[in-house]
Amino acid sequence: MKHCSKCILPDNFQNISFDQKGVCNYCNNYRKFVPKGEKYLIAELEKAKAKKRPYDALVPISGGKDSTYILYLAKKKYGLNVLTFTYDNGFFSDIALENIKTMVDKLNVDHIFFHHNWELQKKMYRAALINSGEICGVCGLGINGITLKLATDWKIPIILLGHTPLEDNSFSQENIYDYFRLNKILKDSNISDKEIKQFLIYPKLTFFSIFFKSKTGAFARQINPLFYIENPSDKEMSEILKKEMYWRDKSDAEFSKHFDCLAEPFSNFVREHRFGYSRRICQLSTMVRRNEISREEAEKIHQNDKLLAKPENLELICEKLSLSKDDVKNILNVKLFKYKKYISKSNKLFSKLKSIKDK
Ligand SMILES: [Zn+2]
Repeated sequence: MKHCSKCILPDNFQNISFDQKGVCNYCNNYRKFVPKGEKYLIAELEKAKAKKRPYDALVPISGGKDSTYILYLAKKKYGLNVLTFTYDNGFFSDIALENIKTMVDKLNVDHIFFHHNWELQKKMYRAALINSGEICGVCGLGINGITLKLATDWKIPIILLGHTPLEDNSFSQENIYDYFRLNKILKDSNISDKEIKQFLIYPKLTFFSIFFKSKTGAFARQINPLFYIENPSDKEMSEILKKEMYWRDKSDAEFSKHFDCLAEPFSNFVREHRFGYSRRICQLSTMVRRNEISREEAEKIHQNDKLLAKPENLELICEKLSLSKDDVKNILNVKLFKYKKYISKSNKLFSKLKSIKDK
């Protein structure tokens, strides 16, 4: 297998091509991240404050680095009155739970814990995994539904999210962060409309309808502060969080992303097997391009990831989801792009525009 000579992306990566020097199109097209500008962010936050609602913003927190940093910005830097909330996806690591508890306590913020009953949640995870080989979108859309619902019911004007420019390109072409696609997968698994509605809350959303509803005020505006400001490096972020947010890092993993979720190594293991690469390889490659780490360091972390993915973690996930050895075998062999054509029209347009940008 050939890898880019600058980053660590492999030659089987989606839409990849190499120039004569062996540098990939993602590296060649890479432009240094230019933030939209903090003044625009502050303007949005001031607008929210001016509404004088009980809370200025809803901040979902997972105990991981990015969402904790958003809470730090909201509370300590911009002085917002926030409601924090955690969607328990059933796979929280102890350290993530501990982080959440300490932070909520020390920062003196209101906090809501939400989890679907495990039978329902497990049914969704199993259906998605066994039918499509993917799991992350189940949790992603689960969080999305309850986040929008909470903000609507509590009349909170904005939702502050921890998406970062670092995660660009890190999702596969058949990700299931699409209501249309996930509905189809769940229906193929004979899950009833009633259960789907209970789980997704708004089962018919698209990127476009969310955008439209937030423009008309039916939904809260979703804002990603990390796209507005100069981002600290991963290391700087940890230092700020430890000092200001009583946050603890996982000690045995460097540059940990998503250590808050125990299913992450499992989902990476499945992706690695099916596609030949995980989404970590994209994040690490982006960090190389941003000069946060060297190519050698990225390679080392990536190799270490592979070791971490098995076998204890696999056993734990299989036990929680009642997956047999045969189930796992089937999941690893789900046909690639099985649900690719099931995509809402607006999301299709969105991904087309994105793939043009990547080329
Ligand atoms: Zn590259």
